Amino acid sequence: AKGLMAGKRGLVMGVANNRSIAYGIAKACAAQGAELALTYQGDALKKRVEPLAAELNAILAGHCDVTDSASLDAVFANIQEQWGNIDFLVHAIAFSDKDELDGRYIDTSADNFNKTLFISCYSLTAVAQRAEKLMGSGGSILTLTYYGAEKWMPHYNVMGVAKAALEASVRYLAADLGPQGIRVNAVSAGPIKTLAASGIGDFRYILKWNELNAPLRRTVTIEEVGDSALYLLSDLGRGVTGEIHHVDSGYHVVGMKNPEAPDL
Ligand code: NAD
Repeated sequence: AKGLMAGKRGLVMGVANNRSIAYGIAKACAAQGAELALTYQGDALKKRVEPLAAELNAILAGHCDVTDSASLDAVFANIQEQWGNIDFLVHAIAFSDKDELDGRYIDTSADNFNKTLFISCYSLTAVAQRAEKLMGSGGSILTLTYYGAEKWMPHYNVMGVAKAALEASVRYLAADLGPQGIRVNAVSAGPIKTLAASGIGDFRYILKWNELNAPLRRTVTIEEVGDSALYLLSDLGRGVTGEIHHVDSGYHVVGMKNPEAPDL
């Protein structure tokens, strides 16, 4: 294979369907010569992921629910058996109770706080622990975050708190794993209509707001996120770790509504 990712093998976690950001990243990696393994969450998603794996020439590494550590162990044992080692890992996993992605943050329940932080933040550390053992010759770990970690966003609520903790985790993991040549970074993607995003209240308004106010005056696609991810996953990014890289049409630099935008 030729390309930026030729000779590299990677595990991609978080493909649910062909609108998933993880799928956009997987496509970009495959197009650059990477060999891929995909996980899926349960049988319902297996049916969706199987044809995508076939299209990408990827192997299926098995079912993974990050709240079930046995399923995580099984996935990594399977990869170790089939490949021995990996060069990169994509973590594109998040979850919160839909009822709490609406209204006020202050109404978050302790149960959903724990669940959201565990699935959306702790799971990165859980997979990094296991990936470290398969990255003997160095590697690149990438997660996905959102601007709601940095600034208040309507309805993002406890997920914003989880993403802030996730971004801090990126820095701590980068420091822990740097000596072994393992880099840890995040892409902070602008809003994209995916399955996970459909749980967020008023998501259409958020998309429209970004379209009107981002410097590029549009939202981003999963293909654009995938292409930017290549920089961090490939050797192009070999000097970069602990970084939060925004792929959001520039929205994160804007401090005020575009005065030329119509009212929403
Ligand atoms: P998606 O619904 O396609 O992907 C979310 C994935 O998380 C699914 O594959 C799902 O199976 C997985 N997941 C949820 N709970 C899990 C669990 N317990 N165990 C294992 N897997 C679990 O949506 P997406 O928007 O592509 O989300 C991918 C990542 O991108 C998430 O971290 C999300 O927060 C982040 N992100 C999304 C946007 C956006 O606007 N869509 C913007 C910035 C960041």
